[in-house]
Amino acid sequence: MKSILVTSKDLKKNNWEAIENLLVENQVQAIFNDSSRAMTAEEICSVCSKTKIEGIVVYSSSDEINSEVFKNCKDLKVISRHGVGIENIDITVAKKYGVEIRTTNELCDYETVADLAFGLILCLSRRIALMDRSLKKKNWLREVGNDVWGKKLGIVGFGRIGQALAQRALGFKMKVLSYDPYIDIPTEKAVKMVDIEQLLTESDFISLHMPLTKETHNIIDIDQFALMKKTAYLINTARADLVNQEVLLEVLREKRIAGAAIDVYSVEPAQKDPLIDSNLDNLICTPHVGSYTIENLKQMDYAVFKNAVEVISKYKD
Ligand code: NAD
Repeated sequence: MKSILVTSKDLKKNNWEAIENLLVENQVQAIFNDSSRAMTAEEICSVCSKTKIEGIVVYSSSDEINSEVFKNCKDLKVISRHGVGIENIDITVAKKYGVEIRTTNELCDYETVADLAFGLILCLSRRIALMDRSLKKKNWLREVGNDVWGKKLGIVGFGRIGQALAQRALGFKMKVLSYDPYIDIPTEKAVKMVDIEQLLTESDFISLHMPLTKETHNIIDIDQFALMKKTAYLINTARADLVNQEVLLEVLREKRIAGAAIDVYSVEPAQKDPLIDSNLDNLICTPHVGSYTIENLKQMDYAVFKNAVEVISKYKD
């Protein structure tokens, strides 16, 4: 019997019967993190010191898969990531120890995340969440929103989610700009590729869709906010630290932009996040649910286990 460590018990929720069959068929036992928070490297190493762990199924970008994990967990063959973000995994050290990194990027979660990003655009512009909150407190508040059609959407990062969002925006008769230093010609002809300054200056909505790397950390900071229109909205469903979080809070408090919607936080699950705690009317917060649809999760939850099982099954006991 081989063993894998699973960093969240949430992975038992959506497609467990099929996953359990997969594990039984391949004689793999899953050891779950029983707490409701992400795992530290120390906790992971402690599990590996007691059981021969050959794979780790990583659920959150706050799980700490650093060099200590690779040094101490000598039997590790695979890190299987739920989703695509691998910024919390030390891939250089993983390579050194011959540990394979798998993600679920072969699935269509980009369409699902693009749905949320576009939903947040509509929610911000028509103040949907704000009116819902006030009406339930018996305030008949008829907020005057903004049109979405005819407005300019600036997409930073024109990969899978960025492109899927562009298709939605074009269907809503928006004008679409994009900045992506690694793509010259957009696949979508109606999208105009521009530099980041032009995008920030001209866009009514700015949506971020690039990975978090050393290069993109705080790519939206005080100088970039200064370029944005006072009426602009920022949507971040990618990674929190693409944006200077303190500056974002200040900018929203002082209404230097019209508003923001965020799905991602510096520490997740977010417990004491100043943005969430600010209770600002011009900020919409969702708890990292970009890929959370029944249809998509069923596929992703199964795939993350399948990827781990596939790799460890290549090795004899
Ligand atoms: P992708 O790899 O298909 O696209 C990323 C794009 O970003 C690429 O085209 C790349 O060239 C571009 N890029 C890289 N550096 C850049 C820079 N400095 N400036 C502008 N663009 C840059 O990835 P994807 O599937 O579209 O996902 C994008 C991000 O969304 C992921 O990295 C992940 O962090 C996030 N994500 C969030 C959720 C969620 O639940 N909220 C779900 C999936 C993915």
